[in-house]
Amino acid sequence: MDSQKFRKAMGKFTTGVTVIATETEKNVYGMTANAFMSLSLDPQMIVISVGEKAKLKGRIQESGKFSVNILADNQQELSMLFAGQIKEKKEIDFAYLEGTPIIPKAVASIACEVSSEYLEGDHTLFVGKVLDIQLEDEEPLVFYSGKYRALQGEEAVLLK
Ligand code: FAD
Repeated sequence: MDSQKFRKAMGKFTTGVTVIATETEKNVYGMTANAFMSLSLDPQMIVISVGEKAKLKGRIQESGKFSVNILADNQQELSMLFAGQIKEKKEIDFAYLEGTPIIPKAVASIACEVSSEYLEGDHTLFVGKVLDIQLEDEEPLVFYSGKYRALQGEEAVLLK
């Protein structure tokens, strides 16, 4: 299968945008990710998928905990920062939930401990057991076909 065709098809699946955050003894780290899903209601569990080349993989393995932060429509810059698309260094003030760093004013922040991990192909799936959740009254950032969008009422509008 042609890899461009695969990427194009996967990009047709409209998602939100998250920043996965974790803290080791050395520092707090974040990474933009849209490969996130709810896995189980009882017990409450979620799954994220982290690329083999991503530095975050080893950092989550070291800490055993992470947060998933569903970004708001005014947080596109954070998505770009944590995807390495903005090159200059920026200080981010993280808040904490269950001892795990979270992004302030994200639509939802979900603090998790790693329950299990599975290496498949070039990504590792981390199953997270949910420890706590923080919700904010914000609208979500949307990602479709490689572009950021925002919901406006019933419509999704393209962001610059
Ligand atoms: P780094 O490259 O070290 O970190 C990424 C960036 O975040 C760097 O610029 C770094 O300076 C900055 N940063 C990290 N911590 C901090 C901090 N504490 N304060 C300030 N800046 C900091 N990849 C996946 O594996 N899975 C996915 O589901 C996924 N989905 C994506 C969805 C979108 C919309 C986009 C744009 C990218 C996605 N990626 C995904 C790609 C991924 O975000 C990048 O490959 C990322 O650069 C990998 O980060 P890293 O862990 O290697 O860490």
